[in-house]
Amino acid sequence: MIRTPDDFTSLAEPRDDPGALTFVFRGDELLVAGEAPALPDAAACLAHGLAPRSMVPVGLWRGAYLRAALAPPGLEARPGFAFRALRALFGRADDAFLGLAGRAKQLAEWDATHRFCGACGAATARMAGERAMRCTACGRTAYPRISPAMMVLVRRGPRILLARHARGTGRWSALAGFVEAGESIEEAVHREVREEVGLAVRDLRYFASQSWPFPHSLMVAFTAEHAGGELRPDAAEIAEARWFGPGEALPEALAMPQSVARALIEAHRPL
Ligand SMILES: [Zn+2]
Repeated sequence: MIRTPDDFTSLAEPRDDPGALTFVFRGDELLVAGEAPALPDAAACLAHGLAPRSMVPVGLWRGAYLRAALAPPGLEARPGFAFRALRALFGRADDAFLGLAGRAKQLAEWDATHRFCGACGAATARMAGERAMRCTACGRTAYPRISPAMMVLVRRGPRILLARHARGTGRWSALAGFVEAGESIEEAVHREVREEVGLAVRDLRYFASQSWPFPHSLMVAFTAEHAGGELRPDAAEIAEARWFGPGEALPEALAMPQSVARALIEAHRPL
């Protein structure tokens, strides 16, 4: 599962370090060299016309200072580098690298979209020593935005419920949805299961959580037992939903490897 490596230290204060490595994003693509993949150093960033002041500190990992930046639209990779879809790196790069890339992407996007105060419209400035942006006029402070979402694998006896979301990647997964303002995670589970497939559930059990950078979710995964109702998928949200039992092959297009969804399904695969 994608995760923050144990030997990573978050850092909110920029450093002047010629050895700095930078996650440079163009949309959902990451600028890398080679297959490993490697990140551009300070010289490579300058060669791409990226100014150090546009970069957000991310942290320290294995002796390197990591930072993040959004590429201006239309920036082309220099020879030896390529922009590669972050999703395409899943399954190739290791979990720790992807965890840091996801963190970097969220920080770079947050920084780029909070240059002005949401209340009064004046310019903001990064706060010293803290991961926050402060309005230079009214003092309003903005922190990185994280949107909690829930995921639930519903079980009925030996069977599990998988679905393809109408607006998703087309892969089969557990049910999922964003928590609404004013809701607890548990309330969101009950509401989403009722809305998406018309079932009641009980016995929610926490499984794991995972940061997911498309765009800034914190996915909290559960299992739950069927408590009533028959499948009535809401066509606006669910393209297809069905139970899978022992001896039945699960769909090939399952939730992405390294996602909490995949770990949740694999841990409860009917035997
Ligand atoms: Zn303001």
